[in-house]
Amino acid sequence: MSDRAEKRDLLYAGKAKRVYSTERPDEVIIHYSDDATAYNAQKRGAIADKGVFNNAISAYLFQLLARNGIATHFIEKLSDREQCCKRVAIIPLEVIPRNWIAGSMARRLGIKEGTRPPNSICDLCYKDDALGDPLINEDHAVALGVTTYAELKQIYARARRINALLQAEFDRVGIVLVDCKLEFGKGARGDLLLADEISPDTCRLWDRLTLKKLDKDRFRRDLGAVGEAYAEVLQRLERTD
Ligand code: 5GP
Repeated sequence: MSDRAEKRDLLYAGKAKRVYSTERPDEVIIHYSDDATAYNAQKRGAIADKGVFNNAISAYLFQLLARNGIATHFIEKLSDREQCCKRVAIIPLEVIPRNWIAGSMARRLGIKEGTRPPNSICDLCYKDDALGDPLINEDHAVALGVTTYAELKQIYARARRINALLQAEFDRVGIVLVDCKLEFGKGARGDLLLADEISPDTCRLWDRLTLKKLDKDRFRRDLGAVGEAYAEVLQRLERTD
């Protein structure tokens, strides 16, 4: 048997990624494409080489988290656009730590973008495209039958630790982690694993000095130079000084 899993059937085609089965029942191959969508796929486009940047950034950050004791689905980067990951059953929740206020929270509560809250904030959304990923609370998540109170406690604790590790890493390279969207899944043995991706598609990343946006808001808000921003994030993370 080769040491690398081989791609078989398309299991799932998401908005920016495709998931393939392999000859190994517990491993999948995830392909990162250049497709970009926003506002629940009402806005569509492509960003040249986004898949290459997000695959590299995500792989880098999953490895950093693993070195710090976080269990993730990531196994290895296979090529420019593909990574091998553990097969998981995704828990249909988006867990969103917010360090600075931006995006939907700024809009919903009338808070100026860039405000720094005195407390830690973690939103929970129900991952359902037809409903537009609505904001929910813990009781709703349990009522929906997608998790339990005990599991939610574990998810929040894990999300807080992941957020702290990512904040420190981005701070190292002069970037503010404004917020990020985390997804968790259950592995073959029912273990809780960080899944999906961590990239400028799923995080708000602002240059610490200029507050320039280095993330998908450049696409959402037609700010231009989207690919350049993603490339800059990767380049800064790969800096070792
Ligand atoms: P907001 O709730 O402000 O729209 O998003 C908060 C953070 O989560 C942002 O970093 C945003 O990129 C991420 N996020 C929330 N929902 C989604 C989603 O459906 N897809 C992606 N790629 N990111 C999301």
